[in-house]
Amino acid sequence: MNTKYIFVTGGVASSLGKGIIAASLAKLLQARGLRVTIQKFDPYLNIDPGTLNPYEHGECYVTEDGAETDLDLGHYERFLGIHTSQANNVTTGRIYNTVISRERKGDYLGKTVQIVPHITDEIKRRMLLLGKTGNYDVVITEVGGTVGDMESQPFVEAMRQLQWEMPEEDFLSIHLTLIPYLKAAQELKTKPTQHSVQKLQSQGVHPDIIVCRTEKELTPELRRKIALFCNVKPGHVIQSMDAWSIYQVPFNMEAEHLDELVVNKLEIPGLPEPDLSGFKSFLERLRNPQREVDIALVGKYVELQDAYKSIQESFVHAGAANQCKVNVHCIHSEHLDPSNVEEVLGQMKGILVAPGFGSRGLEGKICAVKYAREHGVPFFGICLGMQMAVVEFARNVIGWADAASTEDNPDTSHPVIDMMEEQKKLTLKGGTMRLGAYPCKLKEGTLAHRIYDADYISERHRHRYEFNNEYLQTFQDAGMVFSGINPDHNLVEMIELPSHPFFIAVQFHPELKSTPEKPQPIFVHFVRAALVKA
Ligand code: GLN
Repeated sequence: MNTKYIFVTGGVASSLGKGIIAASLAKLLQARGLRVTIQKFDPYLNIDPGTLNPYEHGECYVTEDGAETDLDLGHYERFLGIHTSQANNVTTGRIYNTVISRERKGDYLGKTVQIVPHITDEIKRRMLLLGKTGNYDVVITEVGGTVGDMESQPFVEAMRQLQWEMPEEDFLSIHLTLIPYLKAAQELKTKPTQHSVQKLQSQGVHPDIIVCRTEKELTPELRRKIALFCNVKPGHVIQSMDAWSIYQVPFNMEAEHLDELVVNKLEIPGLPEPDLSGFKSFLERLRNPQREVDIALVGKYVELQDAYKSIQESFVHAGAANQCKVNVHCIHSEHLDPSNVEEVLGQMKGILVAPGFGSRGLEGKICAVKYAREHGVPFFGICLGMQMAVVEFARNVIGWADAASTEDNPDTSHPVIDMMEEQKKLTLKGGTMRLGAYPCKLKEGTLAHRIYDADYISERHRHRYEFNNEYLQTFQDAGMVFSGINPDHNLVEMIELPSHPFFIAVQFHPELKSTPEKPQPIFVHFVRAALVKA
């Protein structure tokens, strides 16, 4: 069978959940036995989202191979349980960068380099790349942005060309739109969808299936109307109602026969019905929690839900594993200080201090660590959260009042967190952090070893600073245990305090590998410890 290509575009409004629809379809096809991957094409000029503030596009998701990518790749990995890579997230910036570098090398000597065909050729090459490896039956491409935007036009143009360059049964286009409900008129409105599909068609791309985000059920008449005006078969208009959990969406799409429509159009015969048993048992546990627990997520990007997406999702997975509902309370670290910490964190059964960059909100994070350490509240620090746990310990247990990370205070007399040696000579900011998967050796008899039940683990990283090994002995003498170490470079990856009921912090990002079917073990144990406290 040829590799099949499915393209998902969006119209009417952004934030309709294209990533979730794409991931849900991928899940259904995978559950029918196909080898599926998903990629995202983003229409902005940054080479990757690594240089973006989380307020811009939410969390930056890091893959095994160290690519800094869009958070939708996190959804893809969580839904499919697969690893994505650099090739799964392509931006306009990366496309232009490739074409312009080629131009400088002289690859186009004598020619005028243009959007069509040079940029579109490069887009097409990358759209087909994962399919060429031979490892996939289906490659789903999510085209970021909204149809009609100037930015996404070259992507749509590349799709238009591809639909004629490959056999009809290998290409499928899905358009996701919004059907708004007008309360005053008590009516669902289809006009924006009609316009959006017209726009797409005017660019030469014809959707095979229209998925409609809606708050209310689409009646058969409304489906017929959309089909009529949007030039698709009546059965090819499907609804996507707001779901109680994103993990319910594959089931909703199955009920709407999305996968069936897709395999019929792509002419893939003889597939079994989807086996979603893993997701099903996860959802049953999620829907029937026996208990609840309140956990504080202390960070500085808390105004934006998506800034800590993978952490939030990890709590959903870990909650289900413990049959409990985790109420994650986002606490703004900038507003936390010794005068209000008791009031803000007093009711919390667990405290997680989040990753981050720069100085803003650091003192609040340190204050949260101190509270957790002194009051025996289960504590979990991630990346900057670990670094602040180290600073807090240096200041309040060892007694070095000005201890700091040099990211925050380059002149401190106790740089307990310092820039990694190989980072010091770097001048470029994009893609130069310590990124991606690294091994970590766990010390026997520690909490980390009990949690993972393994001698070696691998987790993903994204940082420039590290624990300063000059201070190792002093910290150990004062009661801190270094339970996870990178075996190749001796970097501290995990710390813990055995004198505390549950105090663990990690330099890596465990949240990036948690899935509904394989919840991340530190999160699972952290929630369990919080339940003991509750
Ligand atoms: N800013 C810190 C560093 O670069 C922590 C990074 C993070 O939390 N991801 O090391």
